[in-house]
Order: sequence, then structure tokens, then C-alpha cells
Amino acid sequence: MDNEQNQNQENHSEQQNNNKKNGYRSIIVILIISIIMTILSWRLYDRLINGAEEEKTYAEFIEMLDAGAVDSVEIYSHEIKFKPIEDGNVLDKTTYVTVAISDDSLANRLRTARSKYGTQYKGIDESGSAILGTVLSWVVMILIFYLFLSMIMKRSMNVGKANAKVYMEKKTGVTFEDVAGEEEAKESLTEMVDFLHNPKKYLDIGAKMPKGALLVGPPGTGKTLLAKAVAGEANVPFFSMSGSSFVELYVGVGALRVRDLFKQAAAMAPCIIFIDEIDAIGRSRDTRHGGDSEREQTLNQLLAEMDGFDTSKGIVILAATNRPEVLDKALLRPGRFDRRVIVEKPDLKGRIDTLKVHSKNVKMDETVDFRELALATSGAVGADLANIINEGALAAVKAGRTLVSQQDLISAVEVVFAGKEKKDRLLSPEEKRIVAYHEVGHALLIALQKHTEPVQRITIVPRTMGTLGYVWQVPEEEKYLETKAEMQSDLITLLGGRAAEELKFSSVTTGAANDIEQATKKARAMVTLYGMSDKFGMMQLEAVEGQYLDRALALQCSDETATKIDREVRDMLKDSYEKAKKLLASHIHALDEIAEFLIERETITGKEFMEIFSKTESENATQK
Ligand code: ADP
Ligand code: ZN
Repeated sequence: MDNEQNQNQENHSEQQNNNKKNGYRSIIVILIISIIMTILSWRLYDRLINGAEEEKTYAEFIEMLDAGAVDSVEIYSHEIKFKPIEDGNVLDKTTYVTVAISDDSLANRLRTARSKYGTQYKGIDESGSAILGTVLSWVVMILIFYLFLSMIMKRSMNVGKANAKVYMEKKTGVTFEDVAGEEEAKESLTEMVDFLHNPKKYLDIGAKMPKGALLVGPPGTGKTLLAKAVAGEANVPFFSMSGSSFVELYVGVGALRVRDLFKQAAAMAPCIIFIDEIDAIGRSRDTRHGGDSEREQTLNQLLAEMDGFDTSKGIVILAATNRPEVLDKALLRPGRFDRRVIVEKPDLKGRIDTLKVHSKNVKMDETVDFRELALATSGAVGADLANIINEGALAAVKAGRTLVSQQDLISAVEVVFAGKEKKDRLLSPEEKRIVAYHEVGHALLIALQKHTEPVQRITIVPRTMGTLGYVWQVPEEEKYLETKAEMQSDLITLLGGRAAEELKFSSVTTGAANDIEQATKKARAMVTLYGMSDKFGMMQLEAVEGQYLDRALALQCSDETATKIDREVRDMLKDSYEKAKKLLASHIHALDEIAEFLIERETITGKEFMEIFSKTESENATQK
């Protein structure tokens, strides 16, 4: 341990020496340039101070002096300055200057001119003021040049050197305890930690440690956090750099940065190198879009560096990506990133744990229920959850409370997923009615179909992320499988907003665009991915690409079949829409009642909704 520290210090002082050398060199350059500039600018400076000067010959000066056309004379060691009198007026603004010649008769002439015309004269010792002036102008010049040069240097350093952007932490202070969930990921990384702790144990037995591991998962799931935790657990420095920052405009810079990064890391080994967004450099080299020589060079350098160091030094490279499928195969070969650690979106338990981790230092009251929050946030990643806790705490402070309540956190969920309430967007009364009916249409269909989840909240307050209103559903428990019946009733619910609009206003609006998108995706997936349509049966018609980021789908069938798929999807949607309309039409009383209540209140809870709903239901029953 002691040894290591010494090594680190040595490295540091070496770096400092380098810095010093650079510093001296730049000071010398600055000095030379400012000396030249001082000399050049001295005359200019003089001009500025003393106003315009006009040159005269010595003979002209003598002539004017003898003729009484000179008001005052200043005699310097090398020049004579004098102010002329023209037509009896002293021209204060004009100064004539002439070269001083050693002329013995000048003294007599001056004396005569003084007694005859009152001409003033004096000799001036310029050394004092000149030194002051020079010093002043030097200071100014040095300052200007220092600023100027440091600007240029900074810029060129950013271009040429990696250390401008390498981010190094000697101690990350993050441990596995700070990472909630992700047990599998932690388990496979534990081995790395152990190796960094004690490489000898592995080397003695002849085991080769993997040089690198690829952390794969959607953004915000804690890949960076995990990498830091590995460094923290192993108590080694953490170097990180983002893949996109390697790739620059200038060819060769990226490769230089890679080399520099590894050099710096080697000096601090054992350590962790973390490369975020490695797909930015590691994308497959045989792309269809033509070569990109800069990226290729950078990637080649990275491969060379990875092959070049031996693991016994104790450098572990971790890289993160959310699109492993685009990576160049060379990166994934044994001896490089041959280990894959999947970092998934957290499940219910993972979300509860993440909320707990992030609220460790947040003061909360007894109403807070993490399970309820976690249920309401299925699909959220760790970064979202961290954000929710923080937004909730901010809301509590804003309301002047000292403890965070569940209500704060629930509002925070809405803020994180839908944006803040947009108070200045005023809907016209007519628009408000339409939005209210639309949302109640969704909610009512949820309540009417037993398969779908209960309603938590309905609101028609516009939000900054663009929604005019929404229905918030919270499942009672997390589900990993969806049945066909559930998906079918989801389709009906999704189209229920538009159905309510049509029933009530007999015209439709643009408000259903998002519903249509979601419903179409769902129907399509039922046909092409899940084998839920009778027409096609269990035939895979589309394959998922880009599993962690965009989940793009690629058709796996002939054009003819594609046309049939489109037709099938259209029929399913049409069918669902008809069902939605029929269901709502038979409960139009409930639709009216709840919508009116919502227009008045703008936000209603699931409980209020259910009260009106059951009341109208029982009225319906007695009428029949
Ligand atoms: P990624 O690198 O996968 O995009 P980050 O590691 O940058 O994600 O995560 C961003 C933030 O989200 C973290 O700093 C942390 O506050 C929070 N976070 C993400 N995942 C987790 C997790 N599993 N446990 C605790 N916090 C998490
Ligand atoms: Zn809708």
C-alpha cells in the first residue's frame, strides 16, 4: 500500500515538472514578444500621450526661433520639441519636433529669444518618465499577451491532448452498496474487484483475467455508477472518458487521445479505465455508409492499446454501451471486451431499493410508501428514480415543509414523466371539455374491463412535456407476462379517448395521435412478435434490433406478407375502436357525470372516480 502511494506521488511530481517546463517556455516567449512590441509601440504611445507632432528641420526651427515664432521649447537628449506662434496666437495643439544637433550657438539664441519674445525653454531629463512609461507599457503588454497566449494554448491543448478531457478520480467513494439492484452485474464485477485487490493470487495459479468488460444496458440504468463502484470497492483510481470525446474533427486526434489515456492510466496502475458510449468509436468498421478514417484510426489504436498491456499490471477496462449490436467484432474478441455485463432496467424490487438508496439522506414523513411509488414507475430507470426523489424534496421545500411526503413524491413522478404543470397554457372551455371527455373515455374503459389496472389519477392540467391531460394507471403488482386478453383490452382502452370524443362531440381532434401510435405498435407486435393473430399464427414476422435503445423492428417476411400484416393490424384496430365506442355508449351517463366533475376539478383521484362510477352503475342497474 505504502509502495503504491509513493509511486503515485512520483508520477505526480513528474507531471508537475512537465507543467513547470511548459510554464517557463511560455513566459520566455511572452517576454520576447512583449519586448519587441514595446519598442514598436513606444512611438505610438508617445504620440497618443503628446498629441500630434509634426517634424521640422533644424534650420526651420532656428529660423522660427529667431523670428519669435516659438512659444516654448523642450530640449530632450535626442530631440527638441517646440510650440509655434502663428499670427500672434500660441497653437497649443501643435507640437513641432526636430532632431537635436550639438549646436553651441543654440544656448545664446534661446537666451536672446527669451529676452526678446519671452520664449520659454527648458531641458528635460527623460530617463525618469521614460522608465515609468516603459514599465507601464510592459506590464500592460505582458498582461495582454498572457491572456492571448493562454487562450491559444488552451485551445491547442484541447485539440492535441487527451488530458484535457480525461476525467480522473483518485477515490470514487462509490461502493456496490450505492448501486441498487443489479445483483447479477455486481456479481460478475466482484471478480474484477478481487483481481484488482490481489492480482498475484490469479497470476500465481496461471489464470488470465479478462482485460475488459462491456456494460450493456439502456441509458440511466447505472452503468457509470457500477464502473465507479468497481473502482471504489477495489480502492483504485478511476479514469473515464466518453467515446464521443475521442472522435474529433481532426484525423489522428482520437488515436492520440487513446494513447494518452492509456499512458496516464499505466502510470497509476492498478486502476480502472472507463469508456462511456464506446459505440461512438467501436462501431463496426465495415459500415455501409463508407469508411470514416478518423474513427477507424481511433478504434485501431484502442485495440492496439488493449493488446499491448498485460493484465498483470492491474488495469481493467470497463466500457458502456446501449447498442452492443453495432460494435465491431474485433472489440469483442477474447482478450478484449470478452465479458458482457448486462445492466437491466430495474424490476419492482430494484426500483424500491433504488428509491431507498437515494432517499438515504432525505427526510421523509410516515406517509411515504416506496412500494406504491415503485409500482407507479414501471419502466423507470435508476436515473429517473433518483430524479423523482430529488424533485419530491424540492417540492417539499417549496411548500415550506421540513419532511417529504408521499404526495410530494407522487407529484414528482408526474413532473419527471410528464413535465411540470403549465399554468400559463389556458385551454378554452370547449377544448377543456374535449380533453376531459377524452381522458374519462380512457379511464372508464379501464374500469369497465376487468383485466386492466385501476386508475390512480386523472388530470386535465396541461404539462410542459406537451400532454393536455392523462390518466395515470398503477398496477397492483408487477407483471412479467401479458396475456392476449390483456393486450386486447389495452387496445380498447387506448382508443377509448377518441371514441369518447366521437360519441360526445360527433367530431374528432388531433389529441389522439399518441394513443394511435401506441395502439398501432401494440397491435403490430401482437401480430408480428407474439403470434396472437389467428391469421398468421406463431410465425415470427419481425425481429427486434437495438434491444437496449431504440428497439427498432426489422421485417422478416416478403412484401406480400407485409401488406397482409398491415391489413390485419388495421382490422384489429378498427375492431377495438368499435368495441370502445359500444362500451362507452352503454355507459354514457357515467361518462357525462365523471367528465363534468373533472372539468370542475381539473384533477381527480382514482377514489373519486370510483365513487361516481359505482353510483351511476347502481342507478343504471335499478333503471333496468
Ligand atoms: P448510465 O451510465 O447507465 O447511463 P449512470 O450510471 O450515469 O447511468 O446513472 C445516472 C444516475 O442514476 C446515477 O448517478 C445514480 O444516481 C442513478 N442510478 C442509476 N442506476 C442506479 C442504481 N442501480 N442504483 C442507484 N442509483 C442509480
Ligand atoms: Zn388519449
